[in-house]
Amino acid sequence: MSNVYPSNPDCIFCKIVAGEIPCHKVYECSNVLAFLDIGPLSEGHVLVIPKGHWETLEAVPAPIVAECAIVCKRVGRAVAKVTGCAGWNLLQNNGAVAGQEVPHVHFHIIPRAEGDGLGYRWNAGALDQDRAGQLRDAIAAAADELADQTAPQEL
Ligand SMILES: [Zn+2]
Repeated sequence: MSNVYPSNPDCIFCKIVAGEIPCHKVYECSNVLAFLDIGPLSEGHVLVIPKGHWETLEAVPAPIVAECAIVCKRVGRAVAKVTGCAGWNLLQNNGAVAGQEVPHVHFHIIPRAEGDGLGYRWNAGALDQDRAGQLRDAIAAAADELADQTAPQEL
């Protein structure tokens, strides 16, 4: 099964997918695996990964991104039901500078509670209106140009 995906023999998540390293699996389907994070930020912290080795989100084929999103929803609901958490974060650190420690795309599902002390700096600035127009136009043009050929037609 695992050899139909791109795989990296040095990747800890690829080793988990291949069964070479054990995990506490909570969900699995043909392209996606979900398991407990061994360094949980809170009880019930789960990782959702595509079985294939892709380092960043933009490298993952669109249908597998969609499957990951569906699994995140399903497993997130399951985690919330079991932990009774008031809410949960869905977090994907995309690239080392963004805090990605394992270079194999993964989504964190992190149960949250009032006063749990978790969080991150969110030092919001103010959107400059002139710059906003430039950014809007540039990003919109790039988004059109970078249409994913594997995505459904409307994307
Ligand atoms: Zn990998």
